[in-house]
Amino acid sequence: ERERLARLRHTPAVTLDGERVELLANIELPQDAPGALAAGAVGVGLFRTEFLFMNRNGELPGEDEQFEAYRAAVQAMQGLPVTIRTIDIGADKPFERMSHNELRHEHTLNPAMGLRAIRWSLSEPSMFRMQLRAILRASAYGKVRLLVPMLTHLGEVRQTFEALARAKQQLSDAGVPYTDVEVGAMIEVPGAALLADSFLKHFDFVSLGTNDLIQYTLAIDRADEAVAHLYDPWHPAVLRLIANTISAAHAAGKGVSVCGEMAGDPAFTALLLSMGLRSFSMHPSQIATIKQRILRADTRRLSHHAQAILSSDAPEEACCRLLRGDTGRE
Ligand code: PEP
Ligand code: MG
Repeated sequence: ERERLARLRHTPAVTLDGERVELLANIELPQDAPGALAAGAVGVGLFRTEFLFMNRNGELPGEDEQFEAYRAAVQAMQGLPVTIRTIDIGADKPFERMSHNELRHEHTLNPAMGLRAIRWSLSEPSMFRMQLRAILRASAYGKVRLLVPMLTHLGEVRQTFEALARAKQQLSDAGVPYTDVEVGAMIEVPGAALLADSFLKHFDFVSLGTNDLIQYTLAIDRADEAVAHLYDPWHPAVLRLIANTISAAHAAGKGVSVCGEMAGDPAFTALLLSMGLRSFSMHPSQIATIKQRILRADTRRLSHHAQAILSSDAPEEACCRLLRGDTGRE
């Protein structure tokens, strides 16, 4: 079995009907990049940069240290794309795990809905520009894509691009090399998923953060054990928001990926393929399993069932019944 999985690494992820699927890795530190390559990832779909800032008990990484980390990841991926997400602190990645005194924050009763991710970055403009400069500098060493978490308001989109333009100007003024990077939005708030078409006008691609999307759509705190049984990726509302975002990206001719846990869960591979998804980003340990599902899938057959599953009150059962043999359950 081990050997079979090792051989799979070099097999391209192509469905029975010849559809190419992109399998990308989620990483937390540059040291994870070689493992991603070894697992057969064709790029990094999500580099969670907040991990560079966590558990340091001291100073936060400055621009040069961040740049070195981003460049290390980019070089380790040997020309494959590396999608670097700007800092996503707050909520399940609390400020408490970082050095307090340097980060302005206040205790909040409901951190998942508080000043986190892009909201926090926009409230700390010089820290944000520093990170953007570090990411842009890494683009001189490979294929960098920039990803912005938790966008909700179109006003935040405008502010993000203003910050990016200033960061580029600062680098240009200083004669520091960088290349133009593609910019993507995480779609992980229901409001953003409903407005996916509007967001897509401003971005080169979108990436669905299903972990947060489920939390916010169902009003279930990801970290609260008492309601964990209600955290349901199969909820029809969640599936419709995902399908809406994928369709909007196709209509706009732009890239769309899923980088939440659903992408690495074989129970959802056939369903996501049926919705038209062709890019999945996951923990490297899941890549071989998902690839096996893809090699066995026939997207033409699957796509006939997407609508029935989406309009069902019990999508999980509908999926098992209609996509028999493709759901990963057998
Ligand atoms: C998500 O929300 O699905 C996601 C990929 O981001 P994170 O888990 O880091 O919040
Ligand atoms: Mg998220």
